Amino acid sequence: MFDRIAQTVSYQTLTLDSPVQITIKRLDQIHPHISGNKFFKLKHNLLEAQKQAAKKIITFGGAYSNHIAAAAYAAHLFGFESIGIIRGEELADKPLNHTLSKAQHFGMQLQFFSREKYRQKDTEAFLQQLKKEHPDAYIVPEGGSNALAILGCQEILTDDDRKNYDVICCAVGTGGTILGLIEASSTHQKILGFSALKGEFLQKEIALKTTKSNWKITDDYCFGGYAKTTVELFTFIQNFEQQYQIPLEQIYTGKMLFGLLNLIENNHFAKNTRILVIHSGGLQGRKMPFSDSNQ
Ligand SMILES: *Cc1c(COP(=O)(O)O)cnc(C)c1O
Repeated sequence: MFDRIAQTVSYQTLTLDSPVQITIKRLDQIHPHISGNKFFKLKHNLLEAQKQAAKKIITFGGAYSNHIAAAAYAAHLFGFESIGIIRGEELADKPLNHTLSKAQHFGMQLQFFSREKYRQKDTEAFLQQLKKEHPDAYIVPEGGSNALAILGCQEILTDDDRKNYDVICCAVGTGGTILGLIEASSTHQKILGFSALKGEFLQKEIALKTTKSNWKITDDYCFGGYAKTTVELFTFIQNFEQQYQIPLEQIYTGKMLFGLLNLIENNHFAKNTRILVIHSGGLQGRKMPFSDSNQ
């Protein structure tokens, strides 16, 4: 079922004034509502929920979460009810933003939790209580990152992707996607992750979950932290979109491409390096404060 709804993904090689080659794998095209890496992260989770004869999907996210938007639609498509537990109880009294109203439109029931309560979401006690309240539910963690998500993300790379590229770049949030890519990569390849969050903790967490060492995560291009932006970043995105006709967003893919082009400018890569960039989608959360009114 999941594979049947996948649309064709294109590869676009950028014309660069540089001795390295960048090709973008447009996972943003895989599905209009289950976009990018979230398609791969949700796939085996929903198949498993079906196998367990669950009636309902429960998952977690922030107010702008691409995962929440994708999970709402995927659950709807599979005939599950869905509950989205959203960080921030203050949001309950406000009009829903674009992401949340879309999720609700697809039938997701939204529950707003205080930050304190939300922080408990991975604890055994919390999960047990949730299961007691919803015995017919299948629970997907925040960002969708669990073992089945990593399994799904291994399917992002094809045999040709393993053969034809030296470096694979992706944006990193919770790390599920990069773990799949690392596992699926060929040993001659390097996986380079651009963190959307500040800090070394991801590097350490990922290292615990893989035995491979052909990867690296940098937070040099997180622009100060998750969802933080600058005029420079928006200007970059706008120029990039105009030049290549490839849409980006400001949380993940915009920062990754800013970082990658910066590394290339600083001669970080050897001549003729063939780089595959995973466009992980997320365009439902795209915001362009001074170029259009999409908020
Ligand atoms: C969720 C998301 C990521 C991060 O994926 P993780 O598996 O959490 O690291 C990257 N890019 C986009 C567009 C996303 O929506």
